[in-house]
Amino acid sequence: MFAGVEAARAFSRQVMVYNFQQIVEAKPPALEYSVASKVFCTETAFRVASQAIQIFGGNGLSREYAIEKIFRDARASMIQDGINETLAIGAASRL
Ligand SMILES: Cc1cc2nc3c(=O)[nH]c(=O)nc-3n(C[C@H](O)[C@H](O)[C@H](O)COP(=O)(O)OP(=O)(O)OC[C@H]3O[C@@H](n4cnc5c(N)ncnc54)[C@H](O)[C@@H]3O)c2cc1C
Repeated sequence: MFAGVEAARAFSRQVMVYNFQQIVEAKPPALEYSVASKVFCTETAFRVASQAIQIFGGNGLSREYAIEKIFRDARASMIQDGINETLAIGAASRL
């Protein structure tokens, strides 16, 4: 879980720095990197949140604990701002 979160964090920051530099140099941002980062980070968030619920057991599904909300938010992130599947199809055509 820790490795997944750190890998996602490192990837998204690297893409942000790269695309920021592209914009500074008046070049178009690399959208395939942005999409790859969005898909990877949201899938990692969902997997890690699911693993956290497993650790909490039944309590993880109760509204008493924040993990239930984190899990729902992580699942929504795979749909909002573009469904991961359709984003990936668009990005793949750029690779
Ligand atoms: C928490 C949340 C916040 C949101 N906030 C906003 C907002 O602020 N502003 C706004 O405008 N919208 C917002 N939305 C809407 C969001 O942008 C849409 O839900 C999203 O674009 C997907 O559209 P859809 O729900 O119609 O699903 P659809 O596009 O109908 O997709 C349904 C299913 O079909 C699959 N699918 C669709 N096309 C393909 C394809 N070509 N190949 C393979 N599979 C495919 C998808 O993977 C998915 O499983 C939000 C959604 C959520 C969940």
